[in-house]
Amino acid sequence: MNFHILTLFPEMITDTLSASIIGRASQNNSISIDTVNIRDYTNDKHGSVDDYPYGGGAGMLMQAQPIYDAYKSIEEKIGHKPRTVYLSPQGKTFNQKIAHELSIEDDLVLLCGHYEGVDERVLDKIDAELISIGDYVLTGGELAAMVIVDSVSRLVPGVLHNDESSEDESFENSLLEYPQYSRPYEWDGMKVPDILLSGDHKKVDEWRHEKSLERTLENRPDLLERAELSKKDIEFIDSIRYKYDS
Ligand code: SAM
Repeated sequence: MNFHILTLFPEMITDTLSASIIGRASQNNSISIDTVNIRDYTNDKHGSVDDYPYGGGAGMLMQAQPIYDAYKSIEEKIGHKPRTVYLSPQGKTFNQKIAHELSIEDDLVLLCGHYEGVDERVLDKIDAELISIGDYVLTGGELAAMVIVDSVSRLVPGVLHNDESSEDESFENSLLEYPQYSRPYEWDGMKVPDILLSGDHKKVDEWRHEKSLERTLENRPDLLERAELSKKDIEFIDSIRYKYDS
């Protein structure tokens, strides 16, 4: 999978995404992350990429021309029209389902805004879909783009090793993950639940599934409405619901 990130601050992206699992995935070519500096495409003789908004108001707006030409350079390079996302607080809220949808693309363009945002006309022209990473306002789209690159990359085959598998993780099947423990067996007077040392994989799986249901009920009951629950799951949830009713 190839990520193409349109940004005024490429160093923010390259410095951060060259580390850890995502850095390793780029190095072994499971993914590629190309940054395109929008400023390199301005026709303005002073290198400017922003201007005042028509109608007045605070701040500056990124202009359409440099963004469009930077976008076109990607289209020409890859030879087709890619799925394109503009990171915006006005977009639909990003979640694991959208991460799965994006992870099947060969190419994904992520446009990072700055200042007060971008000229609306270029969004129409490049057919951008708007995605937000939450109900708050960032100074720029770079952090949001990196959140998307990180979470989508983990779903691309070859990025995670088997021992880092994403299958049981939070939000898969709309449940939060169960609690986990590592050595030592006893720490600060607290012991690991004995079931995890029993060697009985079926019982461990059952315990983890119940803990997963309980944790979701406690912290994110809204997710349970979307989860695929068996009759046994529903009975279990009903039996512990009283603990979390406020
Ligand atoms: N004036 C815009 C508004 O009120 O909707 C906010 C602009 S914000 C200061 C600058 C840039 O940060 C945006 O163009 C966008 O790319 C990015 N950004 C800010 N908050 C974001 C969020 N919650 N999710 C994704 N991108 C965000």
